Amino acid sequence: MNECGVGYITGLYWDEGEPALELLSEPDSGSYERHPLDRGQILSISILGAALCIGSFDAVSQRRIPCPRRSPVAGGRDHLCTRCSRAGANFYARTGIPTGSYGEARLREQDHIAYIALFGRSTLKVGVAATWRSRQRLLEQGAAAALMFVKGSGDDVRELERSVAKDIGVRQSIQLHQKLQYLWDLPEQEESQRTLSTSVDEIYELLPSLIWERVTPIVNFVYNVPQFRIRGEFQDTRDLILIEYVHSPDVITGSIIGCVGQVLLLRAGNDRTYAVDGRALTGHLVRLSGRGDMSLSGKQRIVGRGGNQQKLF
Ligand SMILES: [Zn+2]
Repeated sequence: MNECGVGYITGLYWDEGEPALELLSEPDSGSYERHPLDRGQILSISILGAALCIGSFDAVSQRRIPCPRRSPVAGGRDHLCTRCSRAGANFYARTGIPTGSYGEARLREQDHIAYIALFGRSTLKVGVAATWRSRQRLLEQGAAAALMFVKGSGDDVRELERSVAKDIGVRQSIQLHQKLQYLWDLPEQEESQRTLSTSVDEIYELLPSLIWERVTPIVNFVYNVPQFRIRGEFQDTRDLILIEYVHSPDVITGSIIGCVGQVLLLRAGNDRTYAVDGRALTGHLVRLSGRGDMSLSGKQRIVGRGGNQQKLF
């Protein structure tokens, strides 16, 4: 990528199974561009300003509604203003908590799936996704593999998810630095399938029959590791510098190693490997180009393959 793109980053997405940064290039007209993140490419991200609210994604109409006020936000993972974080069915989509807002009833009835996702060789997470974007959702989370095991309405599938978490003790979230540590210990496809099938068998055995009456069993296994493209040279990487916040005038430049979930892995000129959280970039006005020099300010964390963590700077 040698051309320049200037715009507000709305996130790192996996539409059609390929990672890309989405830029809102003209906020007034709602014009979006996708910049593919191909392995081996040089990518330079210049942060040009503080983070502004990018607007909520409407799960019913399946499109983004720009923030009417372009409100300043804290950045990092907080990239929606209070108004947009509660707009339409958005709050329910993120939290599963009904508020009676416009569009929510339709979303609650929409087809959803429940899945068990695998991180590393043995860490499991239960989750729910709208059926139409379940494949992207699993890639966005950076799971090595997943087994989708039931489908049904949003409400029924979420109730099942809560039981799996509460009664069987499967986690509902995994912190980013843990996900990164698992990258040095990715399971093979067959091993993943075995681990996930055993877990789903256990869920069927342990949950009361009543809870299965309103959902339909499915078996849909996905193995994400090949799409991350981090096998090979990444295995020699001793540690990662995790970037969770960016500030103007930071410039992050490197050769793309791969993407895992919403994290972009870059090998910089100083031979360090940077894990840039796409959510840290979200809301910032940036310039993307195919050349530049690395410069970074602020706090970063080192995530080591031995499981250690330390602050840098
Ligand atoms: Zn907003």
